[in-house]
Amino acid sequence: MSAEHFDLLVLGGGSAGLAAARRAAKHGARAAIIENKQLGGTCVNVGCVPKKVMWHAAQLVHGFEDAADYGFDLAELPTLGWAKLVERREAYLRRLNGIYASNLDKDGVTRIEGHGRFIGPRLIDVDGQHYSGEHVVIATGAKPIWPKVDGVEHGIDSDGFFALTEQPKRVAVVGAGYIAVELAGVLNTLGSETHLIYRRDTVLRSFDAMLGKSLAEFMGADGMHMHGYSTVSHIDKSTDGLTLQFEHDRAPITVDAVVFAIGRAPNTDGIGLDDVGIALDEFGRVRVDAEDQTSAECVYALGDVVGPPELTPVAIAKGRCLSDRLFGGLPATPLDLRQIPTVIFAHPPIGTVGLSEADARAEYGDSAVRVYTSTFRALYYGVLDHKRETRYKLVCVGPEQRVVGLHIIGMGSDEVLQGFAVALRMGATKQDLDATLAIHPTSGEELVTMT
Ligand code: NDP
Repeated sequence: MSAEHFDLLVLGGGSAGLAAARRAAKHGARAAIIENKQLGGTCVNVGCVPKKVMWHAAQLVHGFEDAADYGFDLAELPTLGWAKLVERREAYLRRLNGIYASNLDKDGVTRIEGHGRFIGPRLIDVDGQHYSGEHVVIATGAKPIWPKVDGVEHGIDSDGFFALTEQPKRVAVVGAGYIAVELAGVLNTLGSETHLIYRRDTVLRSFDAMLGKSLAEFMGADGMHMHGYSTVSHIDKSTDGLTLQFEHDRAPITVDAVVFAIGRAPNTDGIGLDDVGIALDEFGRVRVDAEDQTSAECVYALGDVVGPPELTPVAIAKGRCLSDRLFGGLPATPLDLRQIPTVIFAHPPIGTVGLSEADARAEYGDSAVRVYTSTFRALYYGVLDHKRETRYKLVCVGPEQRVVGLHIIGMGSDEVLQGFAVALRMGATKQDLDATLAIHPTSGEELVTMT
């Protein structure tokens, strides 16, 4: 059977694949993208976008709760129609899927619907049709990991969370990373009795220690049940719900739903990588070199299928960069992975970029590191009885006090971070921040007035 040939053939229509294909087409290449689900990948369909919608819904609850102290006469707090929220969220996602499809059409990228599988070095079978590429990109993403405990089948993962059409009255979220704290925060704020189950002392341990410690404290103060040092041993189902049993004789918990959020694994099954000798690393991720090339010539891998950082903007940047190099004659511009700004849409939100204090001390030595911190209450809380703190930290190094880390938690941190990430990238020093006039009254001004 003859194969239809493209300059760039992309397997996977998520953030990385879409970016690579569209940029290739803009450079005049003949590009095609193979996808067997909705366009947009995890981010659009079961990740960043629906999560942010849920986060916004939960933010409204804070507004309702605070309204009385701002003089509003809300006889009773509004109730949430979970099903309506989900219906409107999904309708928005379907519109986005349509926009992604029409953008591909406008750019002249061929859309191939179906399951792709390598049958030759640069040859892919899609449900019986064959397609070949001068260059091929693997961008199949990742999927949630499940723990190996009895009764695990009674739980759901983050995909299952987004499929919930009813709000669980009682819920346990198992995990300690981005997804666990984000989903637990949404559920708790929207009124579910929420238990966060994590195996160590705190959450978000891969970030600056101030962030996880503060978030655990704030979530606990907001009524979330925090279960540190807790490892689920098995789950029993009964008429009363799902009972989580723990190692080390910890008291069991009974809930209506259990959400696992303990990390993600690459989508490499069933796409023929073994058959064509594309090497995986010890974690089962596609192994790539510094220019994103796999062990096969002219076959590249991008996005979550190659592992951390599993972040949409990184995937997009990598996809564009690859096509700029392959089809635009531009030099490879490696991403500075040490300065990736990222936001955790918890309650309250967290923004973080650069080195944690511990990493800076390990890299530069204690005597070279100077840390500035600020804890304050945003003006918003001035008239409220219920106060919430904001905590900021700057990590600076060397005699010039170059800012190498910025970590913030509290209202507005999600929007404050981006501009400061530019400053860090440009090599800002503490003095540059000090010399920047404050915007008053804001929370962000604390970052330019720290002593
Ligand atoms: P993460 O890798 O962020 O965190 C998972 C955590 O779960 C681990 O760090 C570990 O923490 C804990 N864990 C691991 N195994 C177990 C286990 N068997 N039982 C209990 N706990 C366990 O994974 P996520 O699934 O939260 O997210 C995946 C990735 O998706 C993120 O790393 C991020 O890159 C991306 N993402 C980004 C978002 C954003 O930008 N806002 C939002 C959501 C996801 P410990 O060792 O402390 O127990």
